[in-house]
Amino acid sequence: MEIKCFVCNAAEKERVYLPCYHEGEQKVVCTRCLPTLIHGSH
Ligand SMILES: [Zn+2]
Repeated sequence: MEIKCFVCNAAEKERVYLPCYHEGEQKVVCTRCLPTLIHGSH
């Protein structure tokens, strides 16, 4: 299974990725996009 950030679609091995749930699905987000998710972009 490919680890890829669902926000920025990055799949770089140097980045740190975290599992999360979005729209009822388990997805992976990188730490760069995590602050955006926490603070809300909508
Ligand atoms: Zn990302």
